[in-house]
Amino acid sequence: MKIGKYSFEEFKERAAAFHGYPSPGLLAGGYMVEAARARLSEGTLFEAIVETPKCLPDAVQLLTVCSIGNQRLKVINLGRYALILFDKTTGIGYRAFLDLDKLDRWPHIKGWFMKLIEKERQDPERLLAEIKEAGNSICTVNRVRVASGFIGRSHMSKIARCPICREAYPAEDGPFCLGCKGEAPYEISNDSPAG
Ligand SMILES: [Zn+2]
Repeated sequence: MKIGKYSFEEFKERAAAFHGYPSPGLLAGGYMVEAARARLSEGTLFEAIVETPKCLPDAVQLLTVCSIGNQRLKVINLGRYALILFDKTTGIGYRAFLDLDKLDRWPHIKGWFMKLIEKERQDPERLLAEIKEAGNSICTVNRVRVASGFIGRSHMSKIARCPICREAYPAEDGPFCLGCKGEAPYEISNDSPAG
């Protein structure tokens, strides 16, 4: 079964180039993206929501024009291996998830997905062979309606200059930027060369 316009092997190569290695989650995710997309009518302008930060966002970014950077892909960490593709004007779309009820035929997929097999004891070749053979048969797709607050990009209002770091930031964040409010996960070292 093809993954969009790619053969499994082609998608595996693209996954490795983009993601660092062809992770099982990304390969299974490719079939999930296409299972949801197949339900949208041809030519629908859609956006995506992914319910986990692991692997699955990259499947959406590899196979669609929805990306984190263009804000047509949102990651909302609900800890579930699921994604939604939806019409950006109506919010109507389709949610694909990896269905535990459909994994009994696939011991390697089940062992990996449920972490029943320790990583060192996994057989990556057999796991990938199962993912290829299973295709989209291990996911279930449901129709959903996305809440209006999650449709479209967030439009920034005004830009201000932070009085502490002197960098630009959205004025709606308050009197100074979120970095200077203590949310930046690093310290700038004083000995760093300027420029
Ligand atoms: Zn600042």
